[in-house]
Amino acid sequence: MGATRIVFLGPPGAGKGTQAKRVVVDLGLEHLSTGDILREEVARSTGLGKKAKGFMDRGELVPDDLIIDMIRGRIERAKKGFVLDGFPRTVAQAEALDRISTLDAVVNIDLARAEVVRRLTARRVCRACGTIYNLGFNLAAGTTRCEACGGELYQRDDDQPSVIENRYDVYERSTAPLIAFYRARGLLKPVDGKLGSDRVFAEVMRILAA
Ligand code: AMP
Repeated sequence: MGATRIVFLGPPGAGKGTQAKRVVVDLGLEHLSTGDILREEVARSTGLGKKAKGFMDRGELVPDDLIIDMIRGRIERAKKGFVLDGFPRTVAQAEALDRISTLDAVVNIDLARAEVVRRLTARRVCRACGTIYNLGFNLAAGTTRCEACGGELYQRDDDQPSVIENRYDVYERSTAPLIAFYRARGLLKPVDGKLGSDRVFAEVMRILAA
């Protein structure tokens, strides 16, 4: 049996969401994306959504206690296993996760700042099914509908150039230390995010089966 309790680490735009969606289909696991859950809370204007929105719009991290409370139950209920996408993002979150569950693998999809900025500026997302596209790569300019489901494509508020730079700074400061944290635990599996989506997926599946 391969890995079933998996974390995807990496800067915004490295392909964590795209890969997580594919991996969960293949392995029958639960996809737990804290960014997706938060965007849903914001869209529904819940108490948590109202607290989180300002942080998200600025590209800052939502406070650890809110995130940990939000995700704990979902991890505990994912009995067949999970792919965590966008969590943990701080050492405090990683320590909290240690107390909630053991892990089988931490896949670190690495990508340099210039490529992150390029990709996020070009990112469009389907409002209905969440499929992620990149203008000029798998999406022609002027396309407004999702190829998979016909839903409306939109640009995330935090995918504006000024916010993207801040998100990368926040990643370097708060999240990149987790690379050493998980390497020390023997869990870290590096993958080069510059490879195309299909090659990254093949590499991830090979790592998770090992
Ligand atoms: P993402 O979709 O993963 O890029 O997350 C979008 C935004 O949601 C981030 O820029 C943060 O503001 C917030 N967020 C998502 N996950 C976390 C987390 N684990 N800790 C703190 N903030 C988070």
